[in-house]
Order: sequence, then C-alpha cells, then structure tokens
Amino acid sequence: MVRFADLIPVAAAVERLLLPAECLVCQDPVPLREAEALVCGACRSRWPRIPPPWCARCGSPAGRDEPCTVCAAWPDTVDRARSAVWLDEAARRAVHHLKYDGWWRVADAMALAMRGLEPLTGRLSLVPVPLGSRRLRRRGYNQSERIAEALSRSIGAPVRDVLRRTRDTRSQTALTPEERAANVAGAFAAAGTLTGRCVLVDDVFTTGATLLAAAAALRAAGAEHVDAVTFARARNAVGQD
Ligand SMILES: [Zn+2]
Ligand SMILES: [Zn+2]
Repeated sequence: MVRFADLIPVAAAVERLLLPAECLVCQDPVPLREAEALVCGACRSRWPRIPPPWCARCGSPAGRDEPCTVCAAWPDTVDRARSAVWLDEAARRAVHHLKYDGWWRVADAMALAMRGLEPLTGRLSLVPVPLGSRRLRRRGYNQSERIAEALSRSIGAPVRDVLRRTRDTRSQTALTPEERAANVAGAFAAAGTLTGRCVLVDDVFTTGATLLAAAAALRAAGAEHVDAVTFARARNAVGQD
C-alpha cells in the first residue's frame, strides 16, 4: 500500500516541473507559451535586428549604390553572410551565457531570432564552425554546433559536422582585422566530399575572417555554394569574436 507521506516528494517534483521556467538572461519567469525559447520575450525584444538595406554579399548595412567597404577585399569563398541581431549589450549577454556559463540552451532562442535569414531557405546543409580541441575540452561543447542543432530542429535542414581545426588558433579578441585573417588562414579542413550548398553557422560575425577561412575549406572539399549565418554581428570590425 502506498502511504500518503511517500507521495509528498513525488508531488514536489511534479510541482517543480509545472512551475514556469526562468529566463536564462534575466531570470524572470518565462510564460509557458514562450517556454520553448527559454529567453523571455522582453529579453529577445532587446536584441536589435539588423535592418535592410544591406550588402548582398556580407550583409553589412550599405547604401544601395555605395560600394561595401567591409567585403571589398574578400575572396569569392562566401556567397552570402547574414546575421540576425547587433551584438549590443543584451545580445552580448546571451552570447556570453552560451559560451562561458554553460547555458547552451540559449541556442534555441538564438535560432528563433535567426529564422528567416536569407541563406536558411531552400535545400542546404548546416555546417557549424568548429572549435579548437583545447577550447572544446575546456568548454565541453561547441557553441556553434548547439546553434546549428537548434536551427536544424527549427527548419529541418541537416547538420553536417564536417569541419575540423587543423591547429589551435589564438583568441581573436585583441587582434586587428589583418591579424585575425592571418590567425585563422588555413586553420580549417573539411572531411569527405561535399556537394550542394553549405551554410556555415557561428555565434558572432566580427570581421568575417573565421567564416572566410572555414568557407575556403568547404570549397576545397567540393561545396558549390557557401553561405554563412551568425546570431549576432559586431558593430565595428575590431571587437570580440
Ligand atoms: Zn528575460
Ligand atoms: Zn559587403
């Protein structure tokens, strides 16, 4: 026979499950209808969208007839790069949670914000930008892969984890744009033979150096088209990566 006292811990566990989740960013309760995101609507609305018009290739804000200064010197490895939001304070906090606090479930809310970016329509494979082995060991997961998985659940495209770092690179944080490009040049290799369109997935776009180096490896493995999407974009070229 089951005694009532035995059921109390069960009841407590059920009650905890029924309590609304807390927002990963502000810790306010998340309404049940928004619970899939785990970041409340108020916090998500503080992520400033990047409005058009933007450069057709790199996605930076650009006047319609002015040449783009961000991607003028890019090689032809990336067809289109797009980001969902500016890396302002609120988005920076979310990226910090994703990378350094182990709160990788914030990736679901990021994927929600990235839905509708041009490269994410039609037939495609999602390719996460890999971490170096040292950083992967320390963090325990690759944050770009978590975003790619969340995007995959949302749009149904497959994740192809085909890129590897061929060497550990320095942190990009304190480097100039030229140093960033040199730091990651040739740092990626793709396994196997690729076909069709690959969409690189990363958390933050700063100068595009990492995406360009990763795209070069995908092209070398046979990818016919390479696009890139990131959750956030730094407002100036020199910042964090
Ligand atoms: Zn919140
Ligand atoms: Zn551009």
